[in-house]
Amino acid sequence: MVPTSVILSPESYETVVAEILKSPKGHSPDSSKAENQLALPPLSVRSEDTDIVVVKELVPNPCPICHHQLKFLREMIERFEQEGSNIIRCPLGHRYSGMMKVYHLNIIRGTENGGKNDITECPSCSSNRIQSLGPSEMFCLDCDWDSGW
Ligand SMILES: [Zn+2]
Ligand SMILES: [Zn+2]
Repeated sequence: MVPTSVILSPESYETVVAEILKSPKGHSPDSSKAENQLALPPLSVRSEDTDIVVVKELVPNPCPICHHQLKFLREMIERFEQEGSNIIRCPLGHRYSGMMKVYHLNIIRGTENGGKNDITECPSCSSNRIQSLGPSEMFCLDCDWDSGW
């Protein structure tokens, strides 16, 4: 599996940049620096649906004919996407049909732990009567706020 992009919320991005600045080599916190220092795929910052890593893989891998692991997976995935074909070429030149799988992995906040969420106060009216319907489905009993699902 190959991480192809990282999407952070502005807050998480600040945290990441702050971590880099703490390291002795840290300099100006522009995003290309952050990517280089963390050896990360392209970072994007946005405020919705954030703190995820997009990971892609080609299946089947290894090659079903010679059982060699695919090489240059990142490049292969790029080509796979550009060509829109479903042909995978293994290091020995076998061609076989396969598919690309895309995963969105939750980072930083981790995955839901037992449905507990850390919002206990309404961002709109500061009431603590927050009702939770699920890990990301919350609404306020005192005003019209909901978590926007
Ligand atoms: Zn092969
Ligand atoms: Zn409220």
